[in-house]
Parts: sequence; structure tokens; C-alpha cells
Amino acid sequence: MSSPSPSLSPSGAVLTVDLDALAANFATLDRLASGAEVAPVVKANGYGLGAAEVAYRLMAEGARSFFVARLSEGVSLRAALGVKPAIYVLDGCPDGAAGLLIAERLTPVLNTIEQTAAWDAAGGGEAALMLDTGLNRLGLTDTEACTLPPDRFAVVMSHLACADQPAHPMNRSQRERFTAIAARFPGARRSLAASDGLFLGADFTFHMVRTGICLYGGGPEGRPDPRIRPVATFEAPILQVRDLHPGDTVGYGAAFTATRPMRAAVVAAGYADGVLRAGAPKAYGSLAGRRCAMLGRISMDLTVFDVTDIAEAAAGRMIELVGPNVPVDEAAAAAGTIAYELLTRLGARAVRRYVGAR
Ligand SMILES: *Cc1c(COP(=O)(O)O)cnc(C)c1O
Repeated sequence: MSSPSPSLSPSGAVLTVDLDALAANFATLDRLASGAEVAPVVKANGYGLGAAEVAYRLMAEGARSFFVARLSEGVSLRAALGVKPAIYVLDGCPDGAAGLLIAERLTPVLNTIEQTAAWDAAGGGEAALMLDTGLNRLGLTDTEACTLPPDRFAVVMSHLACADQPAHPMNRSQRERFTAIAARFPGARRSLAASDGLFLGADFTFHMVRTGICLYGGGPEGRPDPRIRPVATFEAPILQVRDLHPGDTVGYGAAFTATRPMRAAVVAAGYADGVLRAGAPKAYGSLAGRRCAMLGRISMDLTVFDVTDIAEAAAGRMIELVGPNVPVDEAAAAAGTIAYELLTRLGARAVRRYVGAR
């Protein structure tokens, strides 16, 4: 299979990443972070937008530390960014990983007593420590943390369970638990907040915030927010415009029936491109600044939209499925999910384009 070339006119979906909007979001988060360092989280290929491209631009904007999940992501990112920035690996130091972490100058976020022992046994240097404060995902318990040397870690961190609900009592209780355990490591920098946590205010930002989704255009609390600019635009071309007569049905399961004369645009993107199947029929597209409803089910390669009242609809025209006119948070909500899942699934088959300074 030959890979699609961005110089050809697109025969399928195009994912455009606006690097200037990304930089603007970084600046906004930096302004809101009460003096804390904003460390971009670029795991899962930069939430699907391209970790190397995203991180490279953010480094030019002043980012000094990055977070990935997997060791393999850290190795790729190191190759893209060179020796300068700190790269933290959230998986920590699983069995056998120490040698590669050291060789690539990656900083593990150690998650268990076993990992701290393995890292020290391998002669590892600077490390971060993940403390569990109630999420019960990764990290040491209070009791375990108390067995470790107080001056061993450059950063101590934890992660909030309910930061997308500002009034949730977990936020306060996790913050209190975090400050109590972190006090055992007086020389370490502290990090508790991700994107939503940053918006909880100065009590939550400490020395470093680890931001992902808001850099990529998702709003705090999973809703569009005027302070956050859209970064990803996902569009696909119309393959055909069809006339529908009353009684005609559209797509698998004949899930939509026309009750009046309509025009339907068949678009070259489906669930294999990351258009979430659960989004039909609530999700919508945008053409020439006008909203168009989805008709019937989303299939693997195709989605059908109502363009009855949109004169511009014609084969070759692009319909926006996510972007400035279709907020990523709304497209995700229509499918009963969150912007994170939508973004990380987009674009497996799309041509990726970058606009703005690299
Ligand atoms: C993914 C992740 C983040 C980034 O979260 P966002 O909500 O996207 O800002 C931060 N910290 C940890 C531990 C994570 O797993």
C-alpha cells in the first residue's frame, strides 16, 4: 500500500493540526498556571496529533519537560527532540527497562517499591515518584512512600480522579493527602494537576502541571471553552451527492427514512477513520459554515450527511467532522465519550497536515 501524499488532492480524510493554535493554548495554560511549569503530555502520539511535531513546536515555545506513557514513546521522542528536554515516562521502570531508560536519558516516574529498587540497582539517576492519593491506578501508598529516602526524587507527583468536576470533594481530599506525603520529600518538585486540575486554581498547580487535552483543543470539564483554541480539524471529501425521495432509506439497517425530498452527501470517512460509530445520529458535520445532520449509521468507510439546504455541497468538497465548527468535545459527547478517546482514534487512515510554524 502506498502512503497518501499530502501534495495530491485528498481522496480520503485529512487531519489538519494547527501548530499556532497549539502554541496559543500552551501560552494560555502557562498564563493560568500560577507560575508552575507547564509540561506537555504527548503520550499516544501526542493524543493522535503527532508527538514529534507537537513537542518540537512546544519546545520552541519554551516547554522544557514532556511526559509520555510508554518507554517506546520516550525513545521516539528523544530521537525527535535531541538531548535537551526532560522526558518523563509514566510507566516508570518495568522489569528490564532500566538500561534503555538510562541510555536514552529518560526519567522514569517510578510507581512501585520494586521499580525504585530496580532503578537504584541499575545505577539510575534522576527519577520521579508517583504517589497514589486515591485514584488507585499507579503509584505508591503512603506507607510505602515512607520507606523511601527523602532526598532521592527530583519530582513527586500524583493524579486527580475527579478534576473535571470542580466541586467534587475528592479534589480537596487528594490535595490534602498529596501535600501530607510530599512533605516527606522536601527537596522534590511537586506535581498534582493535569489540564482540568490546572483550572482548579493556584492551590492545585504546585511546581509543575502535566497538561495534555487542553493543549490539543479539548476544554476543561469536557466542554468547549473560549480560552482554548481548536487544534485538530478532521475533514473528508464528499464522494457523491444523492437525491432522496420520501420513503427512501439511508445506509445499513435502513436506520434513516426520508420524509421529504432531500439531498444527501456521501463522505469518505467512517469508523475505520475514527468517526465514532456511536456518534450517529447525534453527531453532525459542517459545510460552508452550515451544520449538517448525520443520516443513518456510520459505516467503515463512509458517512452520510443531510445537505438539503447547502447549495455548496458537491463531490470533492470537504465536510468538517471535527474542528472550529464542530468542537471536539461536542463530537465526543455525541458518541457518549470524551475528547481524549476521539482524538486518539482519529486519523489512522487520514493524511496528516501541519499548518503554522514548525
Ligand atoms: C494522561 C495524563 C496526564 C494528562 O492529562 P490531561 O487531562 O490530558 O491534561 C497527566 N498526568 C497523568 C499521570 C496522565 O496519565
